[in-house]
Amino acid sequence: MRIFKFGGASVKDAAGIKNVYDVLQKVGYEDVLFVVSAMGKTTNALEVVVKDYFEKSASLQSSIQEVKKYHNQILLDLFEDEKSPVFKAVNDLFSELDYFLNHNKSPNYNFVYDQIVSFGELVSTTILSHYMTYRGIKTNWIDVRNYIKTDATYRDAEVDWDATQKCIAKNIKRKVLNITQGFLGADENGFTTTLGREGSDYTAAIFAYCLNAESVTIWKDVPGVMNADPRYFENASLLNQISYREAIELAFYGASVIHPKTLQPLQKKEIPLYVKSFIEPLLPGTSVSKGADLEPHLPCFIVKKNQLLMSLSSIDFSFIMEENISEIFALLHQFKIKVSLIQNSAISFSVCIEDKFGNFNDLKTMLSKKFKVAYNENVSLYTIRHFNDKAAQMVEENKVVLLKQVSRETMQIVTKESID
Ligand code: ADP
Ligand code: ASP
Ligand code: MG
Repeated sequence: MRIFKFGGASVKDAAGIKNVYDVLQKVGYEDVLFVVSAMGKTTNALEVVVKDYFEKSASLQSSIQEVKKYHNQILLDLFEDEKSPVFKAVNDLFSELDYFLNHNKSPNYNFVYDQIVSFGELVSTTILSHYMTYRGIKTNWIDVRNYIKTDATYRDAEVDWDATQKCIAKNIKRKVLNITQGFLGADENGFTTTLGREGSDYTAAIFAYCLNAESVTIWKDVPGVMNADPRYFENASLLNQISYREAIELAFYGASVIHPKTLQPLQKKEIPLYVKSFIEPLLPGTSVSKGADLEPHLPCFIVKKNQLLMSLSSIDFSFIMEENISEIFALLHQFKIKVSLIQNSAISFSVCIEDKFGNFNDLKTMLSKKFKVAYNENVSLYTIRHFNDKAAQMVEENKVVLLKQVSRETMQIVTKESID
């Protein structure tokens, strides 16, 4: 079985969905399971709905309306007959969302978030599935919440591998085109959970692992994994082949083309991952598999914007010791703040962090009880794998370097943007 994943960019409008049909025609679709994300920026739009709901904002209705209108326009562009059952199917999903918003009593932000944002994937797969049927490709729509079982850590759920393996192995039909939602799962009470933003790649890997799939292909708006994000670096080049290990490193440091959790399950079973262009589906793209680290061997650049550089120092000039460090990390973990770089000296300790869940102020309050806390907001973290002098120079040009760290394969540079 092959697993395909189509992300938000590939299905952002009617033309994108038609293109998915063309891709399937070109590459074949028998014995395929295809995982789909929410369309375009729908997850962001649903995050606004969650925010408005909690803030009891007057704009709640208009933010919901925006999501509905966007999908409705896509439906009108795709289906000539407004009596097509897809209109009712999508409408029913939005009614379910309205019902939830009108009846929910839970004050738990993360729980409510998952119950709401999940409609993005439920709607996108419903539309895709009807569209494929309309064009003559029979699909088997499956509700991923019956397959991917997780704990109840809403917005960042952990997969329960045993339960998931059992559900998938027993119930997935082969020899048909299965279509399901990325990013979602369900806890043991049947409530919807999500696997973390951009988690649909991971969904594809979970299915691949549990089905012992032949391969996973993630279809992107770029030719494959490049040695830099072409949005930020001119002259980025395609990497034809990278090892699992190199891909894990690149994803870990923030190469957002692959979700970092995706690689481990694939590597365990040596299932190859292909990253290909949905615009040119017959080109080879990048293959991530066992073998050569990096082909061609080029410096790889990764940039993470909107980071925080926090430096802690002891109030009384005492050393920052193991026990302090473990306490600091316990707090970072508690507040779900991700650390991308660490540097320490005798009396100070610096970390470059990403505050995905907006918890930095609470963390700061806790840390200030024991340490002097200084920080720079809005810094960028550049990571260069397989660096050389020219690569470092290029990154540092026109920037204020706040911190730099070098190991054998990796250089990391924290900068404030442009000083010109
Ligand atoms: P999806 O539609 O699957 O969610 P994403 O937008 O998450 O796709 O990922 C594709 C984007 O990843 C590209 O448009 C590109 O800007 C970005 N990207 C970041 N790093 C790289 C890289 N090293 N190679 C290719 N693309 C990259
Ligand atoms: N729709 C989700 C997100 O935007 C998951 C994904 O696209 O991978 O984060
Ligand atoms: Mg994405």
